[in-house]
Amino acid sequence: MDRKRIVILGGGFGGVYTARSLEKLLRPDEAEISLVNRENYFVFQPLLPEVVSGSIGLLDTVSPIRRLCPRVNLYMREVEQVDFDRKVVALAPSFRPRALELPYDYLVLALGTLTDFSGMRGLAEHAMPFRTLGDALRLRNRAIHALEEANNERDEEFRRRLLTFVVGGGGFSGVEVIAELNDFVRGVARLYRNIRPEEIQCVLVHSGERVLPEMEPGLAEYAQRLLVKRGVTLKLKARIAAASADAAVLNTGESIPTRTLVSTVPAGPTPLIQSLKCRKEKGRLPVNSSLELEGFEGSVWALGDCAAIRMADGSAAPPTAQHATREANTVAQNIAAVMRGKTQTAFQFPGLGKLGALGHRSAVAEVFGMRVSGFPAWLLWRSIYLMKLPGLDRKLRVGLDWFAALLLPTDLVQLRVQVSDNITNEHFEAGEIIFRQGDVGDRMYIVRAGEVEVVREKQTLAVLGPGEYFGEMALLANLPRNATISATKPTDVLAIAKSDFTKLVTTMPEFGAGVSGAASKRTMEPK
Ligand SMILES: Cc1cc2nc3c(=O)[nH]c(=O)nc-3n(C[C@H](O)[C@H](O)[C@H](O)COP(=O)(O)OP(=O)(O)OC[C@H]3O[C@@H](n4cnc5c(N)ncnc54)[C@H](O)[C@@H]3O)c2cc1C
Repeated sequence: MDRKRIVILGGGFGGVYTARSLEKLLRPDEAEISLVNRENYFVFQPLLPEVVSGSIGLLDTVSPIRRLCPRVNLYMREVEQVDFDRKVVALAPSFRPRALELPYDYLVLALGTLTDFSGMRGLAEHAMPFRTLGDALRLRNRAIHALEEANNERDEEFRRRLLTFVVGGGGFSGVEVIAELNDFVRGVARLYRNIRPEEIQCVLVHSGERVLPEMEPGLAEYAQRLLVKRGVTLKLKARIAAASADAAVLNTGESIPTRTLVSTVPAGPTPLIQSLKCRKEKGRLPVNSSLELEGFEGSVWALGDCAAIRMADGSAAPPTAQHATREANTVAQNIAAVMRGKTQTAFQFPGLGKLGALGHRSAVAEVFGMRVSGFPAWLLWRSIYLMKLPGLDRKLRVGLDWFAALLLPTDLVQLRVQVSDNITNEHFEAGEIIFRQGDVGDRMYIVRAGEVEVVREKQTLAVLGPGEYFGEMALLANLPRNATISATKPTDVLAIAKSDFTKLVTTMPEFGAGVSGAASKRTMEPK
């Protein structure tokens, strides 16, 4: 039987739930399902703000995709390119510098969005986005670091800066982050002998007249009053316009001295979505009512935050997890329908309601036509998310975390993780191959000690020693390696990742010209 190849790009709510539905709808002999995601886990984003305060464990907001979708071939890689004409997806190299291409019959695009700081001075350098598990850990670590430093800082002005925490964006994620952060820093501050509670400032900057614009005004105003009561300073009708290491600058001209700035807005398309050769609607992928990508009907579907989806009543589907999971069911059903020659169904989902946590056992909720606030809404919030969390083991872990948090003091451990360096030292024994002709160019190398030889078609082109470099040509020309490099003696090299090499070349054109000139001269003079 002709087994169809279904490739899903993205392992968030859209991608994972599409894969799970397809596993139920299709027999193994009907289709081979592959899913590509940067991480081998699925992140339950609604619970991420709780990682900041430590009220749930770091790994309890994520679930291994292999366990959620046991029949799926998972590729834990970066998607680099989609070629709609050849119907292939190109994945970035991993341990081995080899390109990997996945051919597909049906493609699902569920790559989400990112927080887009382009055009905002200094935000890319100094503001933290809040979307991934890494972002949540980074914010927690930063807040703890700021408290530790502030406790021993004698300069009053600098202490204030360290003890000011600013969040941009008053939608659900911004409100939930500031609420958790505020509870956390105020809660643990009493362990710091030199920090006075009145020195702590948590600021929420929002462009609208009130926070939570998606919610009914009464509930949004309740949320706003509660945040202020707990010590959050609101800066409404203002946006973060620029940032430096020392301050967040608002479009009103006000500058807030801070060392901790988080921004949950604005959302923008990922570079891969931008690179796709198809029309976009404000950076999103336009789809029809069956969620097929415009111009690629019958072979490509898009869903979740990266897609511009209109429902039957003409309204735009909001970028939420509850919509992404329902869209996933529609996409899976439609792929199965196309495979079996049946009619596709249109996506329609009015939404079940809205929930926003406000920290300290309170929340606001609009569900099934009811409006609830305070403690009952918080109980509802927790019950619904516990139910929605995929996998029994995660439900149990989060339930136990919540129970423990009611009885035990807040954890203050700063979990330092080594950020992977893009410039690394590597060692090769004599005879070991550093890369082969035809491999993908992913790094440039500088010899620190030892010796390497450059071989093409069995001919030695060059022998390189300390201070000399290689591997830059493939990076400059974006072509596969044109020679094999191996160590002839025990050799130490400095490896510079492609991303850093590209930054150097774009900011210092003389650097690029210098290395490419030297390299072409070298290849013309075989030794
Ligand atoms: C802090 C926070 C709280 C939220 N709270 C709620 C809530 O309470 N209720 C609600 O309904 N919604 C909530 N949302 C929104 C919800 O999480 C999103 O709408 C949902 O995640 C969208 O699903 P998606 O599949 O489109 O994108 P995502 O879940 O973002 O998944 C996209 C995936 O694609 C991967 N990816 C992207 N580019 C590449 C690439 N080039 N190569 C490989 N992999 C790639 C990413 O790593 C990611 O895993 C919240 C969002 C945040 C950030």
